[in-house]
Amino acid sequence: MNTISSSFTKNAKAEIDKAQNIVILSHKNPDGDALGSGLAFYNLFTNFNKKATFIVPNQLPVYLKWMDGFNDIIVFENNKSKGQEIIKSADLIIMIDFNHRSRLSQVADSVLPHKCPKILIDHHPDPENIADLIYSRISSSSTAEMVYEFIEAAFGKDAVSKTIAECLFTGIVTDTGTFSYNSSNQITFKIVGELLSFGIDKDYIIDKIYNNYSEYRLRLLGHAINSKMKVLHEYGTAYIYLSQKDMDSYNFEQGDTEGFVNFPLSIKGIVFSAIFIEKDNYTKCSFRSKGDFPANLVAKEHFSGGGHKNAAGGEYKASLKKTIEQFESILPEYKKYLTVESL
Ligand code: 5GP
Ligand code: MN
Repeated sequence: MNTISSSFTKNAKAEIDKAQNIVILSHKNPDGDALGSGLAFYNLFTNFNKKATFIVPNQLPVYLKWMDGFNDIIVFENNKSKGQEIIKSADLIIMIDFNHRSRLSQVADSVLPHKCPKILIDHHPDPENIADLIYSRISSSSTAEMVYEFIEAAFGKDAVSKTIAECLFTGIVTDTGTFSYNSSNQITFKIVGELLSFGIDKDYIIDKIYNNYSEYRLRLLGHAINSKMKVLHEYGTAYIYLSQKDMDSYNFEQGDTEGFVNFPLSIKGIVFSAIFIEKDNYTKCSFRSKGDFPANLVAKEHFSGGGHKNAAGGEYKASLKKTIEQFESILPEYKKYLTVESL
């Protein structure tokens, strides 16, 4: 059933077997797939009695703090010298759920020049050649799915603990919106079937992922939809925009706006949605789409970003107001992707 190549498996396993000091690395603004895949490796190496550190560039989403190993993750931006020290002494770096140096922000300067072997496992389009061994499968639902394939092929099912299965299941669930998108491939369901065989409680995990927020977060969602959403029916587009003041008024915690961008897609005829969130000196942008509308093209061409066709993101170095103006001004370029039914 595995689609993973035997040479990648063999070579990556050999590097892991040799290594004594492994750094696992994922992308900035890490999501459930980044954390699930990274913590699966972290827990695997801990079970193997190998020293391993999971490093992410910045802020962790609070709603995932129940995950096993979450508290051991090093946030580079909060402890730069410790992060640099750990990376310097690594004899293997495993990069997961990203494929471009820009996703590492300032961590890139410590990682890319490092001479140790590097392994990359990821499902985003257009991989950049930043590792010695690369397993890239764009059709995969999530990186977590690929990490399962790799662990099973390299170390066998016995190496997969219930904790590892929980981490990987979390990655698959969060990257597919609980099997709403990116999950029409049989492999995903075969792997989920196998993950269930390790005794994980699927209902419990899904409840932890989606029903674990503060009261403020739900009220912020209400505010966003009621007062901060604009619908542009002529472009099959709707977007939400939140200022720092909005976030402060609702005691924002990292991860609170996760999933907000999906709500405008529930409006009939809306095939493209966006959320713009004001940061200190830029605006964070997230895009979601349905069908053939290429959200990643918009992200890449205008917002210094990228991603998948139906889920992408980026940044714009301007105020919230200027970002929204830019967004509205480029929409006519993408009208060609709207189908007759969507208008
Ligand atoms: P989100 O909207 O949840 O932040 O990100 C959705 C997807 O868009 C991510 O899985 C990632 O593929 C992509 N993405 C988000 N932000 C960026 C960015 O700043 N640069 C690039 N290249 N991709 C991004
Ligand atoms: Mn992913």
